Amino acid sequence: MAQLSDDCFAFGGPMLSVDEAVGIIASRVKAVGETEAVSLVEADGRILARDIAAPLPLPPFTNSAVDGYAVSGGDLPPDGERAFPISGRVQAGASAKAGQLGHAVRIFTGAPMPDGTDTVFMQEDVRIDDAGRVVLPPGLRLGANVRPAGEDIPAGHLALTSGLRLRPQDVALAAAFGLTQLDVVRRLRIAVFSTGDELASPGTERAAAQLFDSNRFMLMAMLRRLGCDVSDLGILRDEREPLASALKQAAGRHDLILTTGGVSTGEEDHVKAGVESAGSLVLWRMAIKPGRPVAMGIIDGTPFIGLPGNPVASFVTFVHVVRPTVLALSGAAAAPLIPMPVRAAFRYKKKLGRREYVRVTLRKTADGMLEAIKFPREGAGLLSSLVETDGLVELGESIVTVEPGDSVGFLSYANLL
Ligand code: AMP
Ligand code: MG
Repeated sequence: MAQLSDDCFAFGGPMLSVDEAVGIIASRVKAVGETEAVSLVEADGRILARDIAAPLPLPPFTNSAVDGYAVSGGDLPPDGERAFPISGRVQAGASAKAGQLGHAVRIFTGAPMPDGTDTVFMQEDVRIDDAGRVVLPPGLRLGANVRPAGEDIPAGHLALTSGLRLRPQDVALAAAFGLTQLDVVRRLRIAVFSTGDELASPGTERAAAQLFDSNRFMLMAMLRRLGCDVSDLGILRDEREPLASALKQAAGRHDLILTTGGVSTGEEDHVKAGVESAGSLVLWRMAIKPGRPVAMGIIDGTPFIGLPGNPVASFVTFVHVVRPTVLALSGAAAAPLIPMPVRAAFRYKKKLGRREYVRVTLRKTADGMLEAIKFPREGAGLLSSLVETDGLVELGESIVTVEPGDSVGFLSYANLL
């Protein structure tokens, strides 16, 4: 399990910028370090634990990039057509005999180049004359339509680096190297609790003044997308001692404890007190909207994050606090979120010095640009505002107004996890 010091999340100022928060996490959270070998089919989304240098060149042998006729460049007509007798045929997967001087070899995509040949004419560019010879047009560059061994990746090249979150194309590269297993960081074990007397679990009786717990399922889904093993630890009531002991119990068995709700400073916000009695706690007041204070703590060496209860605040702070923590714990290379420029179709005023996120839907304009339409309402409790939109427009600290037509940065929900 991760072991962090009690003051790991301490910071100096009264208000943390999003970048400062991410910086603190990246510099103070230690990777769990334990690894396991997984088969290629299981590797997608996992964090690579070791550098991989190419054990062989790609492609491993020089081959034809097209279906056509292989010849020796020296035989090419400088101008005008030239007819070559065809001798030999080599298809993909077959071994090639040496080509004959002055002859063309019928060849197919992926087939090895016969010795003595170095140029391939596409079958679409040639014709066969009455004598059964292939007539090659002039003007083809020597070496055309050939894929030399190692042109993609030379042997020994550092091809996949430790800390990479494996994508399908990375898995493909490992397969192309002939690897069957990859060393990856073991899955993080993450405990998730909701807190609040007003919450009922779906499938249980809901009292009139209760609502069904939705955050827990959102957070668990987000964590699973980040490759974590999630323990669903249910709902904690607003009561300090049971809360403290549940958190303490979870600490020994998990790499991170995540809660939602109860981290404001109201007298019914018991997570704060619970964590203080189980371990140590700091409240991060982040200059971010939506989002309220986020609680950061350590319980018996295990990091703790308490997200606000309002679903949208919970979602946004997950992205900026939990995601970087999970990446740091798993030793993943930092993966900054890069907003894409789109055109604002809305007017907006915001506070200087604060990062704000606006829920938007994208639409294609008549001139082929992408335009962001703001969700009509702003409440941090509106689940519909997350469900009915495509992503978040990120408005940086220095911005105070947005006018229709301004270029703004868009983060798709699809890229956040
Ligand atoms: P809190 O942060 O506990 O003060 O909660 C703020 C708001 O979010 C309240 O209206 C809560 O009812 C709501 N809330 C808290 N936890 C959840 C949850 N797990 N699912 C849905 N809504 C929640
Ligand atoms: Mg609450």
